[in-house]
Amino acid sequence: MLGIFAIAAPGDPSPSRAADEGQGPYERLILRGVNLISGDGAPIRGPVDIVIEKNRITNIVSVGHPGVPIKPAGRPVANVNDKEMDLSGHYVLPGFVDMHGHIGGSADDIPAEYVFKLWLAHGITTVREPGSFNGLDWVMDHVERSEKNTIVAPRIIPYLGFGMGAKSPIFTPEQARKWVKQTAKDGAKGIKFFGATPKIMEAALDEAKQQGLGTMMHHAQLNVMSMNVLDSARLGLTTMEHWYGLPEAMFTDRIIQDYPASYNYNNEQDRFSEAGKLWAQAAPMGSEKWNSVRDELIELDFTLNPTMTIYQASRDLMRERNADWHSDYTLPTLWEFFKPSRYAHGSYWFDWTTSEEISWKENFRLWMQFLNDYKNHGGRVTTGSDSGYIYKIYGFGYISELELLQEAGFNPYEVVQAATLNGAQALGMDDDIGSITIGKLADMVIVEENPLQNFKVLYGTGHYRLDDNNQPTRVGGVKYTIKDGIVYDAKALLEDVKMMVNAAKSAN
Ligand SMILES: [Zn+2]
Repeated sequence: MLGIFAIAAPGDPSPSRAADEGQGPYERLILRGVNLISGDGAPIRGPVDIVIEKNRITNIVSVGHPGVPIKPAGRPVANVNDKEMDLSGHYVLPGFVDMHGHIGGSADDIPAEYVFKLWLAHGITTVREPGSFNGLDWVMDHVERSEKNTIVAPRIIPYLGFGMGAKSPIFTPEQARKWVKQTAKDGAKGIKFFGATPKIMEAALDEAKQQGLGTMMHHAQLNVMSMNVLDSARLGLTTMEHWYGLPEAMFTDRIIQDYPASYNYNNEQDRFSEAGKLWAQAAPMGSEKWNSVRDELIELDFTLNPTMTIYQASRDLMRERNADWHSDYTLPTLWEFFKPSRYAHGSYWFDWTTSEEISWKENFRLWMQFLNDYKNHGGRVTTGSDSGYIYKIYGFGYISELELLQEAGFNPYEVVQAATLNGAQALGMDDDIGSITIGKLADMVIVEENPLQNFKVLYGTGHYRLDDNNQPTRVGGVKYTIKDGIVYDAKALLEDVKMMVNAAKSAN
């Protein structure tokens, strides 16, 4: 989110990891009899045994066939000190990559522990952190402690907000280059842009490339006329956030979005309501313009990070406000921030109507067509959540993104690939993460149900269904998340979050 800077008051830094939080890394850990979803698109195979030494996957062995007992011959032999986990009937996937995860967003005082535990409890082991709204030092401290596993947290890949920490506004290319160089020195892995003049963008993107920094951009309406997605991709931008700037790159019968005269960008309902009519103003699927934009972006190896989940309330506000998880897992401060307000970013339903939801349903339909078409022609689509805004909370919001990609036409394997390998590739980390492959780091999600059959089993609240005794029941929820060889009990993490939420409620 965010089209302008609004730095929130950072919440409490994450406490150190307690002795009973996470087990390992082990000298040698063997996951026994599990069904493997590798993340690279290979079909499920199982049972397999997976050997992990410290934090690396060192062997994957097919040990049998479905429906019959595993014969012991041929299984990796456990030494006396090895840890073994019997995961018969379970499914394992690579750790998820949330390509758009704020540690607290714009609501004040969101404790880091709350955000991190919700992420890990939903299998998210790597987070690209856009904007570093909690401040450079605060974020870098957590980046380092997560790397050392002294806190309970996913890997954090910091993309600093362009211009952040500069003593005065950046308005010359030289200032832009200087800021980028400093940012690389400060340890950022990339830069998050919201838009700037073409000259500034050109200098900043060029310098970012020279410094080996990744780049991501929310093409805010205030600058999109001079720089849409195609313009910035041509200058070297590597990833676009959300979707703004993409319809504008495909205008054929106008050059500026049709704004009503009463529109004011600082009125959030104006922004979100008119945004819902934007895709309909672009060239349609299959047109020459659509195809040429799609093909050129793919040629430039450009990554889309749609974050559809954060716009879901636009097409069904009531559903998002009443989601299953709010009562147990949404902090009162966050709930307060979500409420409609003319002050709060993204709290735009001052008077959200049937027609607005209908526009947004159509907006989603056209947007999803582009995403699926992009993927089918070889383009890279990733998954990000932008949770912390618009009734979306950490982890839960990310799983919704998987469901939305499936709705866009991705088959479940393509969804998982987007959530794992594609994110790793976009971050330049695919030698280490993004699939379950011998030699890669042990970042994994373990669940009792088959997530390809139903992504809802990945929600912390599980999936609601009728059991064989005619009793409504909840199944699923991630069981274990392994990050860097450390095994976290996902349900215990959720219990911790529940306690934090309860405590916050009784303190109010
Ligand atoms: Zn954001």
